[in-house]
Amino acid sequence: MWKKSHKEIVRLSIRKLGLKRNEFTATLLRYIDEPDRIRRRRKRQRYLPHHAGRQQDIIEYILSARIKFLNGDLKSAGRSLAWALHLIHDHCIEKNRHDELERKIAKINMNKEYRNVQINPLKFERFTDLKTYIYHNVAPKENPEDSILAALNHTVSVICSVVSEKRDPPEDILRKYEECLKLFYAERRKLRRLGLLNFTLSNFAFLFITSIISTLMKADYFSLLMFLGFFIEPIIVLVSFGRENKYEKPLRELENEIAWHSGKYPPK
Ligand SMILES: [Zn+2]
Repeated sequence: MWKKSHKEIVRLSIRKLGLKRNEFTATLLRYIDEPDRIRRRRKRQRYLPHHAGRQQDIIEYILSARIKFLNGDLKSAGRSLAWALHLIHDHCIEKNRHDELERKIAKINMNKEYRNVQINPLKFERFTDLKTYIYHNVAPKENPEDSILAALNHTVSVICSVVSEKRDPPEDILRKYEECLKLFYAERRKLRRLGLLNFTLSNFAFLFITSIISTLMKADYFSLLMFLGFFIEPIIVLVSFGRENKYEKPLRELENEIAWHSGKYPPK
């Protein structure tokens, strides 16, 4: 979308939500076209797509905006949210015809046409609800009116969720987090034990095989050991200790969920 269109959608959304003008809304409006500015300035990032496939980034920008907002950092919050909303707006436009649609959208007087359109903001209480929404509802539309309406709906809902009151994280989430944390540490201990065992056994095998090779090649054992060890040892370390903890990802998701409510990551 054009800068003008991004701005109009955000301005309308702020008005529909009845938000007071402050540092947050001002930063949001100032940075709404930053993704395009950067794209133009840095040639290498020019083709980083704005129009599709950036759902994960959108979600991360929104979470970051929410956490900053709850911690009183209104400027950074506005800027993160600007990035999220910019990408959301662009995702509402059919990629293959986006030049044509953008031009048509820019010609529409949004303030006049959409001022009285009824928008019901969805407030995403849970971070998982927000994620589901972004993945399933933010989708390209075929004509300018539908694009604007979709962008407006998403914008109102996302802003409304980001600025909603700080609250205690739900009990069930905290309980799940405690459980997951226990599993995570147990798994980590297990992986360390296993890693140490693998490391020891692999090194014995390495010493043994090297001694056979040195005998066969009639080479000096220690020189060969140093030489081969230089290549083999990093691999042994990587294979022994590089295994991922399977509870890491669920734990991070629960941490994000908690931060979405309270603005703080739980202490480990
Ligand atoms: Zn863009």
